[in-house]
Amino acid sequence: MNKNIQGIGMTSQRTRDRLIERLRVKGIRNVTVLEVMRSLPRHLFIDEALATRAYEDDALPIGHKQTISQPYIVARMTEALISEGIPSKVLEIGTGSGYQAALLAHIVEKVYTVELIKPLYQQARKLLISLGLRNVQYKLSDGTWGWENYAPYDAIIVTAAAPEIPNSLINQLAIGGRLIIPVGTQDDVQQLLTLKRTSEGVTQEKIEDVSFVPLVRG
Ligand code: SAH
Repeated sequence: MNKNIQGIGMTSQRTRDRLIERLRVKGIRNVTVLEVMRSLPRHLFIDEALATRAYEDDALPIGHKQTISQPYIVARMTEALISEGIPSKVLEIGTGSGYQAALLAHIVEKVYTVELIKPLYQQARKLLISLGLRNVQYKLSDGTWGWENYAPYDAIIVTAAAPEIPNSLINQLAIGGRLIIPVGTQDDVQQLLTLKRTSEGVTQEKIEDVSFVPLVRG
């Protein structure tokens, strides 16, 4: 276990174990995802006033009209991302609280994460550094355009709903790479999709219906 995570009360570990059990019941099978989530202190990624709800399987507000995603959805997206092997370079659009980025940082070699709202970008960066995660790079910008400097990525994960699939993200995927993205407007049911870039083109597969905050244009 990561040494930064030890020393949190037994109560936290027990409630965290219950959350992992719930994720398993809901169909999450990937042991890597489950074990890293078991070790991640989700209560540190939300406001103290909400800490008692940190290990419920719900999205929670993180200010600025944004949310930390529901643990089940985080698990599902991460599972989809690593289902055919662990990618080494991953781009995340929508850093938010930093929880998804922290999970990825424990699994893959290098995480690049982009956030549009400055206080969220600053807070997440500070928290992940304090957790000892050194393989994450942060950028404050509109992630609709991806992060050209470090492309191509083995995988890209978008944690806000896009009205349509941004072309720049497809273009920044390596051949064989995958994009996990919720597509749709907030009034509709959004669809969580996996797109794979092959040498012949792009294939698309639906994971499930979801409800995300919108990807906005900066
Ligand atoms: N992955 C986050 C989920 C945050 S919710 C977590 O684990 O907590 C979605 C985030 O996407 C919000 O923080 C929002 O500000 C951000 N966002 C919305 N549109 C964006 C854009 N165009 N570029 C970058 N970030 C964006």
